[in-house]
Amino acid sequence: MKAAIVKEFQTKLQIEDTPKPTPGNGQALVKLEACGVCHTDVHAINGDWPVKPKLPLIPGHEGVGVVEAIGPNVTSVKVGDRVGIPWLYSACGECEYCLDGQETLCHDQENGGYSVDGGYAEYCLAAADYLAKIPDELSSVDAAPILCAGVTTYKALKVSGAKPGDWVAIYGIGGLGHVALQYAKAMGFNVIAVDIADEKLELAKKLGADITVNGQNEDPAEAIQKQVGGAQAAISVAVAKVPFEQAYRSVKRGGTLVAVGLPNEQLPIPIFDTVLNAVTVKGSIVGTRLDMKEALDFAARGKVKAQIETAPLAEVNTIIDKMVNGKINGRVVLTFD
Ligand SMILES: [Zn+2]
Ligand SMILES: [Zn+2]
Repeated sequence: MKAAIVKEFQTKLQIEDTPKPTPGNGQALVKLEACGVCHTDVHAINGDWPVKPKLPLIPGHEGVGVVEAIGPNVTSVKVGDRVGIPWLYSACGECEYCLDGQETLCHDQENGGYSVDGGYAEYCLAAADYLAKIPDELSSVDAAPILCAGVTTYKALKVSGAKPGDWVAIYGIGGLGHVALQYAKAMGFNVIAVDIADEKLELAKKLGADITVNGQNEDPAEAIQKQVGGAQAAISVAVAKVPFEQAYRSVKRGGTLVAVGLPNEQLPIPIFDTVLNAVTVKGSIVGTRLDMKEALDFAARGKVKAQIETAPLAEVNTIIDKMVNGKINGRVVLTFD
């Protein structure tokens, strides 16, 4: 099978023929039809984070395809099912987090395209019980970005504490942000989109943002405080520190900053303001299998649709370069024909 492989950090992916894997106990072999390219893949390729991925590595955690074979003891999927292989590739199923509906916090989880091989390949092994079932209404290409960008932003909005009618600010209108704002609208929030690129703010307007702010022309936090009295929640999916600071300052008293993007930097939080304004700062990481089912359902009902450009697997290095340079509007999904 063809696969794009990281051999060494900070080098180009090698596209090679590699043996097709065989499903073991509890595993399914998925023949991929689509796999989204997420900014996390760039961090994996570069080995940016404190916990390093395995090497060699096949990245990709937005893979969608059809189950071609199953190993022993698989009852949750059958051959021919269309499924998605997410970041939460598997969890232990037994720890306090797994039992409490917080399986994304399991210490014994595997992560697709990071601790195990992912979807930048014609075939991928998966833990059958953790596969997402793709609704018939959704094409594989449209489903792919929901597997990370979709579920991650949907979950962040869910935990933000915002209620219908509240103002929610989305910082960063890239692959995650342009999906976040559609979930936010579908959930009944008023949405402020913040970015530093006008074309991304144009996209935000097209997708229903009520207010857009270009952080290069004005301080977005001041603009949000002035225009709507502060946001009930700010979701930062940006990949730099400055928008996180701005997002913190844009919430109203009693509001919440939800950190989703992963710049490898520190966020200094002013203690005085946090206490006096009773601000909550929380992190949110992908979503559980139930969050995934809900996130896919929004997409299947046409409430959320990522703006997608497709590219063959062979072009993956060009796509990664464009992503690093902020030149992608929406999401790129790799295809395998
Ligand atoms: Zn991702
Ligand atoms: Zn667990």
